[in-house]
Amino acid sequence: MKSATILIVGAGFSGSVVASELASAGRRVHIIDKRSHVAGNAYDEYDEYGVLVHRYGPHIFHTNAERIFEYLSRFTEWLPYEHRVRGVVDGVPYPFPINRVTLNQLYGLDLDEVGAAEFFERVREPREPVITSEDVVLNSVGRDLYEKFFLNYTRKQWGLDPSELKAGVAARIPVRTNTDDRYFTDTFQAMPLHGYTKMFEAMLDHPNITVELGVDFANVRDRAGYGHVVYTGPIDAYFDYCYGPLPYRSLRFEHEHLPAIEQYQEVGTVNYPNDHAYTRITEFKHLTGQQHAGTSIVREYPQAEGDPYYPVPRAENEALFKRYEELAKREANVTFVGRLAQYRYYNMDQVVGAALAAAKRLTG
Ligand code: FAD
Ligand code: UDP
Repeated sequence: MKSATILIVGAGFSGSVVASELASAGRRVHIIDKRSHVAGNAYDEYDEYGVLVHRYGPHIFHTNAERIFEYLSRFTEWLPYEHRVRGVVDGVPYPFPINRVTLNQLYGLDLDEVGAAEFFERVREPREPVITSEDVVLNSVGRDLYEKFFLNYTRKQWGLDPSELKAGVAARIPVRTNTDDRYFTDTFQAMPLHGYTKMFEAMLDHPNITVELGVDFANVRDRAGYGHVVYTGPIDAYFDYCYGPLPYRSLRFEHEHLPAIEQYQEVGTVNYPNDHAYTRITEFKHLTGQQHAGTSIVREYPQAEGDPYYPVPRAENEALFKRYEELAKREANVTFVGRLAQYRYYNMDQVVGAALAAAKRLTG
């Protein structure tokens, strides 16, 4: 006989939000993750020097959806934080996303807001229609800024030319005529006061939830015994790659502690579009507000092999995903949700939204 317990595969944002919602609605939930910890890619921990770091790269929470912010506020207090990024070109750090200060510094100009708008109008290469990431950037800032800030970063990050990626990838980055140098302009921008992992622990702390770590779904023998499965891992793996592997981009994270340096760089993240094998360096103390005599940083090296982190937004990949999605629709008693299962370049707030919607469908 099928048990009333629901099995959730993956204890990242998608799995944990669904678990919490189902448990609150009176359902029994068993959540597994093949990693040794909860929180998925948002996992944070104190390194051996006592600095709070994000094991899988920098995670900054931002959303315009008050509903999502309020929802997570049940599980954490917040530390207001607005992320700032610099892009290094020819050894000089410039505000990024490109704003008026970037233009003035780079080209030795003194543009006001109208002047900056006229500048972009003059240099842009109008594209119609805008389909690829190359189209997006050339259409808004023209070739020189494209080559300085976008072309090589994108090649490094994805192993692809911007012309091979859908518009949505580069469209994540705004272009500004004002002097706002924040990476995000969302209404709510904050970090969980005691870290992401603590927030997840609070989310999963419910008498109806059991958590089992270090368990791969592939090794769960009594799958059929569960009333329902919520799967948040890669969708192609679920179907044993029957149509071939879906490309997911991976990263290698190189963490480093600098004991004698209180501050390594002026802002949270510095991007290196044209130099080095890594794309960016993040210094965690900026993000967390932690005081410490030393500092901890992470470099991100993109690679094809390894844990899946990013779906790769290209038409052919999305066509392959659609084939898997058709199988998913026919899979009785299984819900597929999250960045890997839905093959969408979701931010954390979008994953929370998708998970809340999935939980609502399950609880009726
Ligand atoms: P995941 O966090 O990947 O969780 C899936 C879990 O499923 C994993 O823990 C995995 O171990 C487990 N799993 C998979 N297969 C199996 C299996 N067979 N058996 C058992 N367990 C399994 N978003 C933002 O909003 N702001 C940011 O600043 C930001 N920065 C990011 C930086 C990087 C480097 C990356 C990679 C992502 C970033 N994101 C950011 C996106 C954010 O990480 C995701 O939106 C979010 O973590 C997705 O949650 P998820 O639960 O769908 O997936
Ligand atoms: N990008 C770029 N140069 C940069 C930063 C970003 O060309 O300095 C492009 C690149 O293609 C990247 C995309 O914009 O993958 C989205 O950047 P974002 O910072 O949102 O990436 P994420 O934080 O999700 O890795």
